[in-house]
Amino acid sequence: MVGIVEHFKKGTFEEKYWLPAHNKRRESALFRKNKKLLRDDFGAPCWICGATTDLEVHHVFEWAFWNALDPRKVTDILHAIEFYDEDYTARAKEVERLRLHLAALAKSKPIIDSPDDARNLVVLCREHHRLGLTGIHTVSFPLWLAIAAVPITNAVLTRSQLLAAVARVSAIDQELAALAANNYQPHRI
Ligand SMILES: [Zn+2]
Repeated sequence: MVGIVEHFKKGTFEEKYWLPAHNKRRESALFRKNKKLLRDDFGAPCWICGATTDLEVHHVFEWAFWNALDPRKVTDILHAIEFYDEDYTARAKEVERLRLHLAALAKSKPIIDSPDDARNLVVLCREHHRLGLTGIHTVSFPLWLAIAAVPITNAVLTRSQLLAAVARVSAIDQELAALAANNYQPHRI
């Protein structure tokens, strides 16, 4: 292949955004119920890496933005992304129960009217939810989407290889930052 060789790219971006008036964030009864259903009862794994431990539940459309959003548009976008596709649902512990639950929801509530609706929730491990450089809250959407589309198996670079590389780069980055700050304590990575 000619052209640009593989390379590491580091960038910084700043974001500014407006938040509509919203209630004080607290875990709703619906969120608690759906978190238990998806993660604990149906055994849905991390949507990114397939991990089954250290799992958290992420709102695709953030709770704080919800009052400014059009539920119909939200529903359309969630359909387009299709988090709960065959590939993902097949990796749950209770495949049929999960699929039946989602099908029943689609029938009873065609328009998603709450951020705590199961279709707006996705199970992620802590690393792919909140940790720096790997979590959905810390990487840009184009990058996160590309990670999600790297094949899990049968690829030049599988998703677990890519994620291991990201974790290593992140560890090296922290070592370099510590070195720059003169409190470097070497450890094997
Ligand atoms: Zn994960």
